[in-house]
Amino acid sequence: MRIETDLKLGFKDVLIRPKRSTLGSRAQVSLERSFTFRHTGRTWSGIPIMAANMDTVGSFAMAMVLARHGLLTAVHKHYSPNDWDAFALQLRVAGQDAWLANVAVSTGILDSDLERLDHILERHPALTFICIDVANGYSEPFVERVSAIRARHRNKVIIAGNVVTGEMVEELLLAGADIVKVGIGPGSVCTTRVKTGVGYPQLSAIIECADAAHGLSGQIISDGGCTCPGDVAKAFGAGADFVMLGGMLAGHDEGGGEILEEDGQRWVEFYGMSSKTAMERYSGGVADYRASEGKTVRVPYRGPVEETIKDILGGLRSTCTYVGASRLKELTKRTTFVRVTEQHNPVFD
Ligand code: 5GP
Repeated sequence: MRIETDLKLGFKDVLIRPKRSTLGSRAQVSLERSFTFRHTGRTWSGIPIMAANMDTVGSFAMAMVLARHGLLTAVHKHYSPNDWDAFALQLRVAGQDAWLANVAVSTGILDSDLERLDHILERHPALTFICIDVANGYSEPFVERVSAIRARHRNKVIIAGNVVTGEMVEELLLAGADIVKVGIGPGSVCTTRVKTGVGYPQLSAIIECADAAHGLSGQIISDGGCTCPGDVAKAFGAGADFVMLGGMLAGHDEGGGEILEEDGQRWVEFYGMSSKTAMERYSGGVADYRASEGKTVRVPYRGPVEETIKDILGGLRSTCTYVGASRLKELTKRTTFVRVTEQHNPVFD
């Protein structure tokens, strides 16, 4: 047994220090970034915020709205190849084929997952991003699968995760990933830390993993733990290239969840992808050998996602003006975090 005594921080432990700046207005800030990916040399430009591949967030309807704003969606893995055909047709009819460039196809690592992935990619070669997603990215079979998928899909941009430490980021990048997804335990409907005691404070995970990835010309996605636009700004400030959001995008029309009404209040059900709810829906229940590591909650119904996107992007632009970053790319360099013991004034919470 060993104890690491270095302080590790989460979003709630810091604030971003304001700095003198020549920027007059938020309108002068550009949130667009361009990346070139290490294994393919392919490039992508847009606003590097991504909807999580959860079935009430990473839907086709969400992908359409986010793509319109230049954001990305990791579409969840429970759509069939036929569903993808219908989605692609919908984009074609709308004259928006180009939006496929802002969509990732998610997959697990079972043979059946990979067959489904092959079908979808064969039928829709314009899809660029593959998101290989497992709860624990530290397993050897996972790394082998990443290599196999890289060998099979040489011209795709591969996202792989989740991990939280630099050495595993390096291993996944060397195995064939272009982008590594970072986060174990911070998610809004995740119970991993409670069920297993395993996890890593998200801000420190981003700082350490971004350093490892950038050294190998890779990128990272900070996945999980953002509760407000300020947390998204802190994730970028810490060095995340992309930020993935689940809970912050839950409760909207586009997620496709049923809208429930009780005592005049409207709600939408939201659940973790390893919750009992998800396992019952997709895997015929919780297998005997495992515990669910996700919860099911009700979130207030929030209408169309458009306003929420504007709120997040507005917050981020404002962060950039507070520290003098005219482009999102400059935010990390312009960020000094201050350690704090309070975040906001709770009088009217
Ligand atoms: P959020 O933005 O809601 O804080 O976090 C979203 C992330 O939580 C997802 O992208 C995924 O990595 C993680 N997640 C989703 N469902 C589950 C679950 O059932 N269990 C765990 N441990 N993590 C989950």
